[in-house]
Amino acid sequence: MLPNIQKVIESDQCISCGACHHICPKNNISLEFNKFRNVHEAKILNHTLCEGCPRPCDEVCPSIEVSFEKWDFDRVGPLKEVFIGGFSSFRDNGVSSSGGVVRSIISQALEEDKDVISLCKTKENFPAHYEAVLFDDITNINKLPGSIYHSVSFFEAISHIENSKKEIVLVSIPCHLEGITKYFIKKDKKLLDKIILKVGIICGWSYTNLSYKNFCASTNIDSEKVKDISYRGQNKIGYLELSCEEDTYSFDRRNFNSPHEELRYRSSFSSDMNRSRCLQCQNHLNVQSDISIGDAWLKRLGSKKESIILSRTIQGAEFLKKVVSNFSNNLESGTIKDIYESQGEDLIEGHRAEVFRSLDKLLNKNYVTYNFISSKKRPSLLSLSLHFLTYFLILFRRYFLYKRHYKTYKFFYLFTKPRMIYSYLKYFLNKLKINS
Ligand SMILES: Cc1cc2nc3c(=O)[nH]c(=O)nc-3n(C[C@H](O)[C@H](O)[C@H](O)COP(=O)(O)OP(=O)(O)OC[C@H]3O[C@@H](n4cnc5c(N)ncnc54)[C@H](O)[C@@H]3O)c2cc1C
Ligand code: SF4
Ligand code: SF4
Ligand code: SF4
Repeated sequence: MLPNIQKVIESDQCISCGACHHICPKNNISLEFNKFRNVHEAKILNHTLCEGCPRPCDEVCPSIEVSFEKWDFDRVGPLKEVFIGGFSSFRDNGVSSSGGVVRSIISQALEEDKDVISLCKTKENFPAHYEAVLFDDITNINKLPGSIYHSVSFFEAISHIENSKKEIVLVSIPCHLEGITKYFIKKDKKLLDKIILKVGIICGWSYTNLSYKNFCASTNIDSEKVKDISYRGQNKIGYLELSCEEDTYSFDRRNFNSPHEELRYRSSFSSDMNRSRCLQCQNHLNVQSDISIGDAWLKRLGSKKESIILSRTIQGAEFLKKVVSNFSNNLESGTIKDIYESQGEDLIEGHRAEVFRSLDKLLNKNYVTYNFISSKKRPSLLSLSLHFLTYFLILFRRYFLYKRHYKTYKFFYLFTKPRMIYSYLKYFLNKLKINS
């Protein structure tokens, strides 16, 4: 019988953390790029080798079971302090996504001669490729990317941790940290102690690579020639920048000149493009980290590039103190209310995820589940119904997406999104007015 990770892979629940690959005693799992779904994922090489195997791969996979024993008090997770703001030297450098907090922490770690494991651009040639690297040179700090919101491979992180001779600072999104943690708990808990600081990125979703490829297709940019992607180009929130060898293309994601531009952008970066696992994820706040860092989307800050920082553990609090004393910052204290405002209640409480998971379970006999704890807060009937409807609309639109019928996909996207219908109506009414 095949291990359950086969179902995880088939149902797009694999997030390429690498835990199964490293634990497999028969070297029977590789990482592949699935060209149909456009994601990095694990692949079992020889099914017959799995016969009689005690399946350690299932035990370490974060898409089968994640146990958050300490997560029974509230859904924000362990918390010592909350901060809002950023570190000016990195926030303003045009590379950082929000407050430059991650880069400041990495700089401090490198000054203290720690090894840092973080996502990096790894090939100078086309197309853009990012993976987990062991980062040890502070002069390269701006070669780290800002936030890469599409599928990346994190397979190598575990071997970097195992091979490093130093103490390690690990920068990771929640699901990758879940897999890495499960792996070391199974393999050797002592190796987990090598990681002296887990810097957790707060993560609402990641897209399949179809997302930026679909966008490129409708802008006549060859996606195979994209060397680098900045989702916050020109040091501004809302700018998408695609760098090719001969040119750099910028797109404002906040102001569209026409509804066609809006449709192109929104249909390429919508939740239809989210990985299936993201639609069911309930650990967006990265509860296993020592410090979680995200964007502070607070009304009082406008659209300034600032971060929200959740200091969770004693190690996290102490490390952050050193960073604060070494780098110029504008941090102020925040509250739990700020966390809810910046991320939205639904994302933190996981109501949509619960609806999506229940429906998947109902419709999919191959379903494999994780054991998240249900939220104590109950959502309104209206929001439950909207999540229910959204689930089926995503399934419907994705059908055309996976068939690569991009035009049909866009057509249905337009007619199932009230916001898009409104934009087109406004546009045509304006045209009528001008003509009359
Ligand atoms: C997929 C994804 C989804 C996100 N969703 C949200 C959200 O919903 N809400 C929110 O508040 N914040 C979210 N963020 C976090 C936010 O975009 C910033 O990364 C965060 O605020 C840190 O900004 P910074 O300026 O301190 O870090 P930066 O100076 O920009 O450093 C970012 C660091 O993150 C690493 N990194 C980039 N992409 C990835 C990746 N895919 N996986 C692992 N490491 C990566 C880089 O190597 C770099 O070290 C998301 C980030 C990612 C990667
Ligand atoms: S069942 Fe055993 S042999 Fe098969 S992939 Fe899993 S760990 Fe490897
Ligand atoms: S352990 Fe990680 S890489 Fe392997 S199947 Fe699960 S999610 Fe994918
Ligand atoms: S939303 Fe969850 S599953 Fe998706 S990339 Fe982020 S942490 Fe991973």
